[in-house]
Amino acid sequence: MTDKQKMYFNLFFEERINEYKKIDKLKNWNNGTARKKYNLINAFYLEELDITQTELMQLKKYFEYYKSKYDMYYNIDRRDFFLNDPEKLTRWFQKQNDKCDYCEISQADLHKIVEIRGGNLTLNQRTKRSKGVLEIERRDSTLGYEFNNCILACPLCNNAKSNLIDANSWRNYFKTAMKAFYVELLRKYENPMKKLREMQIMTKEEAIHYFLTTTIDPAKNVSGEFSSFTSSLYEIRKITGRDQMTGKRMKHYDSNNWLGTIGYMTLLDMLGTCFRPKSKSNINKNSFSKALNYFANPALNEDTINVLYALRCAFAHDFSLYNINKKRPALTHNFVIQHGDKKPVVTFPEEIWDGNFENKSEKNQTIVYLESFGDIVEDVCKNVVLLAKNKNLEIVLHSGYKELINRYTFTQKLSISLTFTKDSKIVKFPNKK
Ligand SMILES: [Zn+2]
Repeated sequence: MTDKQKMYFNLFFEERINEYKKIDKLKNWNNGTARKKYNLINAFYLEELDITQTELMQLKKYFEYYKSKYDMYYNIDRRDFFLNDPEKLTRWFQKQNDKCDYCEISQADLHKIVEIRGGNLTLNQRTKRSKGVLEIERRDSTLGYEFNNCILACPLCNNAKSNLIDANSWRNYFKTAMKAFYVELLRKYENPMKKLREMQIMTKEEAIHYFLTTTIDPAKNVSGEFSSFTSSLYEIRKITGRDQMTGKRMKHYDSNNWLGTIGYMTLLDMLGTCFRPKSKSNINKNSFSKALNYFANPALNEDTINVLYALRCAFAHDFSLYNINKKRPALTHNFVIQHGDKKPVVTFPEEIWDGNFENKSEKNQTIVYLESFGDIVEDVCKNVVLLAKNKNLEIVLHSGYKELINRYTFTQKLSISLTFTKDSKIVKFPNKK
């Protein structure tokens, strides 16, 4: 390593200077000094190492691979292993080649398995391995983390050994079987939904889990199979300005987005059609109201649910602000949509509107806050996922989980984007592969 590389390594990896208060500590400055002095942590590195921005980038680039392993595996017990000779450590990792030294499963395949299982990988019924990373194993656990004593091993190979089966026995007797097991598992997981449709090899719980949690990130979705629950939720969050993964409101949150609201409404229709908590008995209502009855947390009263259902009819049928139902006056409303997240979601009219436009007034208008409605549906979704996790969710579809998968999942193989040329002809561009 060059002198600058050594200096950078010392500050970044040994001293772990990644926040202002650590700079203050390193320099024996009063708290807050570094924050005033440097507008970015990088500025400290530029000054301290007396280098240019470009040189700093080169240093970061030089340690990029090292850092990826450091971030994943560093802990205080491994301090010497990581810090004594970073170049040797890098060579050691390169030699491991991101594979289990026993069964040879790759890091990428291990990720794939854990991803498809929704992070559900547990050893001895308690030790979680939800990240699915290869582990650093000491061949002889009485010795420390030394290069010739360490290998990378998958969580299963790493934990299967005991005072009965030592590392050599594992290698001699079980490695081949472990390898064959992974190959078979990966084949099964290759395209789980397709396999399910063809062979029905998934359990009901697996199907529900897949339906509720399949990632919408195409880069991570190895099977190319998507559930309409997660994809629609992702799109709704996008257009209403929520964080697409968590549902939290972002800075650009659009509380009055009608299209997003219709999305949330349709999602309730979907959930009410598909599921019921095991703890509740069936109610005889439309799917939308069922979903709110079953899953709203905190619970909503019947009048509120009726108003929201009426708004769902008004919006979804023709984007109007009126719902007139001659048979059911409780569903007849002249709506006003208001900004803000005032709770409760509905402000009831002082007087009942008779459905006659001539008689509209401030006293018979029903106010709905779409922002609060969005929050309610987000909570419904969370509750459904939680119920599923605790095995308290029942599929109410006529043909059970097979119908759930056949009706509400789809494959996305080739996506086409549309664009308009000057003369308004539609031109299709297949996505880059
Ligand atoms: Zn292994």
